[in-house]
Amino acid sequence: MEFSEKIRFLRKKNKLSQAELGKQVGVSNRAVSKWENGESMPATDTLLSIATVFGVTLDFFLKHGEQEEKRREIEPGMESLKELYKIGIGPSSSHTMGPAKAALLFRQKYPEATRYKAVLQGSLAKTGKGHRTDFCILEVFSPKECEIEFDIKTMELYHPNTLLLYAYEKSRRIGFWEVYSVGGGSIVIKGQPVYKPQRIYPHNSFAQIAEFCQERNIRLWEYVERFEGKEIWDYLKTMWEAMLRSMDEGLRTEGELFGGLGVQRRAKHLFRQRHIDENAETRENRLVCAYAFAVSEQNAACGTIVTAPTCGSCGILPAVLRYVRDKRGLEETEILHALATAGLMGNLIKTNASISGAECGCQAEVGSACAMASAGLGELYGMALPQIEYAAEVALEHHLGLTCDPIGGLVQIPCIERNAVAAMRAINAVNLANFLTDSRKISFDTVVKTMYETGKDLSHRYRETSEGGLAKLYVK
Ligand code: SF4
Repeated sequence: MEFSEKIRFLRKKNKLSQAELGKQVGVSNRAVSKWENGESMPATDTLLSIATVFGVTLDFFLKHGEQEEKRREIEPGMESLKELYKIGIGPSSSHTMGPAKAALLFRQKYPEATRYKAVLQGSLAKTGKGHRTDFCILEVFSPKECEIEFDIKTMELYHPNTLLLYAYEKSRRIGFWEVYSVGGGSIVIKGQPVYKPQRIYPHNSFAQIAEFCQERNIRLWEYVERFEGKEIWDYLKTMWEAMLRSMDEGLRTEGELFGGLGVQRRAKHLFRQRHIDENAETRENRLVCAYAFAVSEQNAACGTIVTAPTCGSCGILPAVLRYVRDKRGLEETEILHALATAGLMGNLIKTNASISGAECGCQAEVGSACAMASAGLGELYGMALPQIEYAAEVALEHHLGLTCDPIGGLVQIPCIERNAVAAMRAINAVNLANFLTDSRKISFDTVVKTMYETGKDLSHRYRETSEGGLAKLYVK
C-alpha cells in the first residue's frame, strides 16, 4: 500500500476529517489532502505525530515507502537559530540531551514517586551504554532509585530512539510515558501535543535567501537579524562563550576517556607540541585540530558543549572560528556574524534534509558542521554570497556518503579525529571557493537534497547503530 492510501485508510477508519487530522498534527487540511493525493509527504516529525495519533509504528508508514519518504513535504519557512545552537551535555543530542530532558520533565510530573524505571529501545538500547544515556538518566533521577533496562529485542518501534519511563510509589505504578528522542535534544511524548517551534524565517532554500539578500544588498547575518531580531546577538554571544569555555577546558585536560576503548585525550598535547617542520601551514593544521579535539573530547567526556549542529560534530565550527579570530585579531561582533551565517546553513540542512546521524549517517552531522564552518569562515573573510554558498556546498559535497559507525557506541572513534579533519576541510573549501566560484556547477540546495537521499539509501548499519563499519570490524 502506498503512503497516500495508508493515511486515507487510517483517517477514515478513525472517523476523522482531513481538517481534524490536520489540527491534531499541526498542519492544514490542505496538507492532509496533498498527502492523500500522493502530491507530498509529511516532514519526519509530523509523520511521527501521525503515527502517534493512529497508534501505529513509523515502520508501518515507511516500509515499502522509501520513494515516498524521499519526497517528504518541506513545510514553509525555517525555525530560529535558537533551535539549532543549544548548550547541552554531551556526547549526543539524541542519546543524552533528549533522554535527560525527558527524565527531568517526568520527574517534575511525578515528584512523589519513590522510584523510577527507564527502558531504552532501538538505537538508545544499542548505543546507549556508549553514549551514556543510562548515566544521564540516573543523574536526573538521583538520589532516588532508578532501574535501567536495555531492551534490544523489541524491533517494532514508533521511532528508532524510544524511551519508556515508569514512576512508582512503593510497588504501585503511578506514571508512564513513552518518549521519542527525535534529534537535536528535542523529544516527543506519546499522547501529548508535539511542541513545534515557530517558523520565523519565510524562506527555506538558499536560492530564495540569496535572492532576498541580493535584492536588498544585505549579507546573510543581516538576513538573520531581520527575522530573529537584535536579541539574536545576545543569544549567539552566550553560545560563543560556551563554545570557548568547552574548548579551554578541553585544552587543559588530559587522561583517558571513559568507555574502555583506552582513548587518550590529545588536545592539550597537540596544542603544546611543535611540528617537526613547523611552518605557517603545519602550525595552522596543528592548532585547528587541537581546538577541534578539545571540544570533541569534552563532548565525549559528557562535558558541556554547544550543538553545532549536533553534539558529535560540535568541535568543527568553534575550532575554525577561534583559529581565524586569533590569527586576524577579529572582534567578537565579527565572530557573531559568522555564527549567524553558519547557523543559517545548518538550519537549511536541518529543514530540507537532516542533521541526525541516526537518520542520515555522519554526512548529516560532520558534513553539515563542515558546511557551517565554511560559510562562517567565508563571512569572516568578507566573501561574496555566491562564494559563501560555494564554500558550504564543497564542504558538504565531499562528505556525501559518510557513514556513522562509532566503535562501542562511544562518540570517540572515529568522531573526535573526524571533527579535526573536517575543520581543516572547511578551510580548504573556503580556499577553493575563493578562486573557483565562477566555474561551479552544483548549488547548495542540490547538495543538501543529495545528502538526504544518500542518507536514506544508507544501510541502518551505518546510521548510529554501531552494527557496521569500524564498529563491527574493530578489534581491541
Ligand atoms: S560517527 Fe559521526 S554521526 Fe556517528 S556518532 Fe560519530 S560524529 Fe556522530
